[in-house]
Amino acid sequence: AQDQLRQAQKMDAIGSLASGIAHDFNNLLGVIQGYVEILLDDLSVADRDELQAIAGAAERAADLTRQLLAFSRKQPLNPTAVDLNDLLTSLIPITRRLVGEDIDLRLVAGDSLWTVVADRGQLDQVVINLVVNARDAMPRGGQLVIETRNLTVGAGAEARVAGVRPGDYVMLVVSDTGVGMDRATQERVFEPFFTTKDVGRGTGLGLSTVFGVLKQSGGAIRLASEPGRGATFRIYLPRGTAAPVVKAAPTAPAEMAGG
Ligand code: ADP
Repeated sequence: AQDQLRQAQKMDAIGSLASGIAHDFNNLLGVIQGYVEILLDDLSVADRDELQAIAGAAERAADLTRQLLAFSRKQPLNPTAVDLNDLLTSLIPITRRLVGEDIDLRLVAGDSLWTVVADRGQLDQVVINLVVNARDAMPRGGQLVIETRNLTVGAGAEARVAGVRPGDYVMLVVSDTGVGMDRATQERVFEPFFTTKDVGRGTGLGLSTVFGVLKQSGGAIRLASEPGRGATFRIYLPRGTAAPVVKAAPTAPAEMAGG
């Protein structure tokens, strides 16, 4: 618990620092991109390749700062009751496109799934991040299974093993048959900016974003992996129904609202 708290504080601090830098950096990048564009309009064909390379690098840098801002910005959230099976079903087309032909994608939807209370956009992001990572871990194809199920975690040993408080959860499991991770890597994957991917491919912000989203919704994420034997991410989202919306002063007396 101490470690988790320290980790959370560290991420908050890095988050505010990063958003400050990203904001200013983004403005400067805009200036660079503007001048490159002007030069591209003016220059002879012979000089264009290098300039195009600059434009490409600037675009990747802009992409990175946008991700950084999205990561650290306190976005306005709209928590509602979400059925994870619904959410996954609506993500199937984009998921299929992301993983391509060589990966066998399976969706195992649990029966009579409870709802969870969360921001749907954030949950979309969680799923997409995990899917992209699984894809990257299976460059020569493999199997990706996304599974949902209801889970009641009992007190005592059960809660200790799961590392969550006793209670009702909707569990989302994303497992792949990819390269897996050694212990040292597993310990660092939720840290912002930790990546083993090539420059320009990985930002190291995917799983730290996922971690942050789950912290906000009172959930948790656990990882099990072995090098060469794939990875399994287990997400626990507390069962819940939408909190009643507190409305401003009603415009009509209650007895006129009918019923
Ligand atoms: P990024 O994808 O930009 O590197 P993430 O925070 O999403 O950032 O992931 C951090 C690192 O965790 C990855 O670079 C990779 O080393 C490791 N990782 C994440 N998911 C998996 C997976 N499914 N299989 C193997 N390694 C993974």
